[in-house]
Amino acid sequence: MKYSSLNYNSVATNFPTAVRSGLAPDRGLYFPEHIPQLDSQWLRNLAAHSIPDICFEAIHPFIGNHIPEEKLFQIVEETLSFDFPIAHLNNQIGALELFHGPTLAFKDVGARFMARCLGYFNSQKQEQLTVLVATSGDTGGAVADGFLGVQGIDVVILYPKGKVSNIQEKQLTTQGQNIRALEVEGVFDDCQDMVKTAFLDDQIKKVRPLTSANSINIARWLPQMFYYFIAVRALQERNEKLVFSVPSGNFGNICAGMMAQKMGLGIDHFIAANNRNDAVINYLNTGVYEPKKTIPTLSNAMDVGDPSNFIRIQKIVNNDLTLLKKILSGFSYSDAETKKAIEELYKNYQYIADPHGAVGYLGLKDYLNEKDTPHYGVFLETAHPVKFLDVVESTLSTEVPLPKSIQKLMTKEKLSQEIQNYEDLKSYLMQS
Ligand SMILES: *Cc1c(COP(=O)(O)O)cnc(C)c1O
Repeated sequence: MKYSSLNYNSVATNFPTAVRSGLAPDRGLYFPEHIPQLDSQWLRNLAAHSIPDICFEAIHPFIGNHIPEEKLFQIVEETLSFDFPIAHLNNQIGALELFHGPTLAFKDVGARFMARCLGYFNSQKQEQLTVLVATSGDTGGAVADGFLGVQGIDVVILYPKGKVSNIQEKQLTTQGQNIRALEVEGVFDDCQDMVKTAFLDDQIKKVRPLTSANSINIARWLPQMFYYFIAVRALQERNEKLVFSVPSGNFGNICAGMMAQKMGLGIDHFIAANNRNDAVINYLNTGVYEPKKTIPTLSNAMDVGDPSNFIRIQKIVNNDLTLLKKILSGFSYSDAETKKAIEELYKNYQYIADPHGAVGYLGLKDYLNEKDTPHYGVFLETAHPVKFLDVVESTLSTEVPLPKSIQKLMTKEKLSQEIQNYEDLKSYLMQS
């Protein structure tokens, strides 16, 4: 498989190069040159196969012979070494729980897969590489955990001082070894801007090759298809139309689901569930895409004003808005509505949801209300409620017990260095 840039000003490249560079030289996102088609017979009876077998078949065509099959299977198996259960709330709605990984949010799968791919490439040809990443909370922890101890890789995480939850801060500052955390005087957008500037800085590039670990990187984006294969495998015998409601920020997760659908997986429809950061929903309604300034909300991992994967979604439908509307709907919700949904889920189903999952639930409910034919809908529960403890506990006036792994984490010592501006970051990257 070759990958070309969606800015169409770079030559196509292979999987290892696309992963190691993150973005194409023309600053465009990489996209596969064709979308592989899976055997329809095989897809109809997924329950006959194990989860690692299915996910291996799904990702293999994107990688080809750049990783030997046996090694790739091992990477898939290790990436998915925890559960992905569906909590059935009623006969129409289920919550696909993607928070059973080590850092309790769905980003673990992408980070673990990408770390293992880079680890393999480094075992073939040792070349020190730095993963530079800005986080609003969940990405940092997942990347710190996924890349811990990977040979030849240094990780530098930028996070906004005082703007991430306690648990999130511990997850990204306590690992040590090859993981470094920089605490930035500013907000998430400041961290993001510094990272982008560093990627364009030739002086840094000369002494320290950099790559990204956000969903712009194909090795973090594509394995997110696995969730959809796993869910369809579990729900296929219901013989109902399946819809997925995906709490969306950068739109990497939902866009991976749309890839899986394009490969032949039986999904009827997608719902992009947004907080008030709703640039893509506006596009669906008006046909005009306008990036917006980020609005802070309770579901802060979705506070993205200009989602980077929107361009990949457009590519999947060849810029055809009519086609896009057939497979994607979008709904946006306020913080007050999000809190009400957390209450409703607890009252009606004794289900404790985090703010992101709650937004997904609302999107699903509104979509299903418009339909008369039977559908089964899944909303993605993208984070464990303890990651957003303040919101959940204050909304429900109840205590949410901390899992054992988190209790242990909270006793570890924070290791981070404060930086004020880009010059600080640059001298850090040039010197250490
Ligand atoms: C990152 C994140 C999202 C948004 O996912 P995208 O792939 O950026 O759309 C949603 N919920 C949680 C908990 C997240 O951490």
